[in-house]
Amino acid sequence: MSKNENNETNFGYKNVDKTEKPEMVKGVFDSVAENYDLMNDLMSLGIHRLWKRGTVELSNLKQGDSVLDVAGGTGDLSILMSDLVGESGEIILSDINEKMLKLGKARSLDKNKLNIKTAVADAENLPFPDNRFNCITIGFGIRNVTNKLEALKNFYRCLKPGGRLMILEFSSVNNDLISWIYDKYSFNIIPKLGEFVSNDRESYQYLVESIRKFPNQEKFSEMIINEGFRKVKYRDLTFGIAALHSAWKF
Ligand code: SAM
Repeated sequence: MSKNENNETNFGYKNVDKTEKPEMVKGVFDSVAENYDLMNDLMSLGIHRLWKRGTVELSNLKQGDSVLDVAGGTGDLSILMSDLVGESGEIILSDINEKMLKLGKARSLDKNKLNIKTAVADAENLPFPDNRFNCITIGFGIRNVTNKLEALKNFYRCLKPGGRLMILEFSSVNNDLISWIYDKYSFNIIPKLGEFVSNDRESYQYLVESIRKFPNQEKFSEMIINEGFRKVKYRDLTFGIAALHSAWKF
């Protein structure tokens, strides 16, 4: 690999310099923030809500637990987890994007989830001490992170021994017919929907491309194992359109 290729990463199907990607990702979420929740419902016909609920149900959280929701955006996972950890617990809803986080904060206050605190934080450089959290979640966020291994290292460092990582992300479809339909839908409908609802076709083109560039279930499991996690398992959701990876620090 040439020196130049080492400095490159993908932004959807484009190759860009690694230093440029965070600003480009910021541009995407600055642009889509206001209509983010509506677009999620429209694009997935509400199915993302089931995936998120499933993630939280499988997390085995208990009262008093301390949870970090990385790339938490408008707060869907944090809001669902809030009652499970209760008043004696805490959820830190974090994101690198202040606009997304502001919406998340407003939504959690609106729903009276007072144990949710917010923090601006980059997944690759989490501003939290070692061994701090019982659980770290990241929903549809890791795909957007430039250096995914660095983010996994940070998750490992910030989890307590015995703590659990839950990663919900778009993944690789495990059925040929569904894959064909999903590709047609993704490339022909989603960017148009983005243009219609948010006046932003490009951000939704990035979304569908970035999903195809993300490692499949097995490859991503290997990346997690290589960072020291144990009991790494995944389950496909809706034919693998999304997958939930679960891993433990011992
Ligand atoms: N977790 C929320 C959900 O499931 O609805 C939001 C997911 S949204 C698709 C992806 C989020 O990742 C955005 O809010 C974006 O700002 C955030 N993000 C991107 N790169 C990040 C990074 N390096 N560190 C933390 N958050 C990041």
